[in-house]
Amino acid sequence: MSVKVGDLVRMDDCYAIDGGSLLFPCGCPLCANKSSRIGLVLQETEYKDNWSMLFDFGEIVFHLGNNDFDVISGSAD
Ligand SMILES: [Zn+2]
Repeated sequence: MSVKVGDLVRMDDCYAIDGGSLLFPCGCPLCANKSSRIGLVLQETEYKDNWSMLFDFGEIVFHLGNNDFDVISGSAD
């Protein structure tokens, strides 16, 4: 799955490495900010698959791997 500028994506929930529930609160920006996890793709950075995205708590750069997110609204192009 790939994204492009203007897409709305939802980052997957955070899980423990074994796929189970987290035993302690996750410290990632999405969890720490109790984000809706829905972000707007702003632009790709100079690093492949690293995208600048706007979330409800602000702008942040995320590496978007194939299984880390769902596109919920694609931009028209
Ligand atoms: Zn997290």
